[in-house]
Amino acid sequence: MTAPFRVGVGYDIHRLVEGRRLIVGGVEIDHAKGLLGHSDADVVLHAVTDALLGAAGLPDIGDLYPDTDQAYKDVDSRVLMKDAMERVRAKGYQASNVDVIIHAEAPKMSPHKAKIAASIAELLGLDAECISVKAKTNEGMGPLGYTDAIACTAVAGLVSTAS
Ligand code: MG
Repeated sequence: MTAPFRVGVGYDIHRLVEGRRLIVGGVEIDHAKGLLGHSDADVVLHAVTDALLGAAGLPDIGDLYPDTDQAYKDVDSRVLMKDAMERVRAKGYQASNVDVIIHAEAPKMSPHKAKIAASIAELLGLDAECISVKAKTNEGMGPLGYTDAIACTAVAGLVSTAS
């Protein structure tokens, strides 16, 4: 039986290094450092994509788009998320809402929350009010607090498209 509603959770973390663009939730942010990764290292879209895939009971982002595959070198994570949503739709589900926590000491994410929410909403074809983006520091503790990395936790809801 198809459940009318499903929930998934996603998490990701990437190192902050010099010489990389900083792309968060599909939004480029002006900063001295960017996130290191095989793809564009968009930590937020990776966490959201894993939440959507998890909610649908699909394989995770690392299984579907492995960082050992040159096809995904420097790939725009929006492309991965759109592909993941096609897989979710093929399973008979549509995204209902996404709730995101960005864990970052620097740069401060608060000024960018609305733009990131709008970016995720556009990718999913949802109203901005269906996307929540929260920004938390790590209170100066650990790799996140020392500005060595940015992490993201995301929860996604899916509704069945079966009538
Ligand atoms: Mg990642």
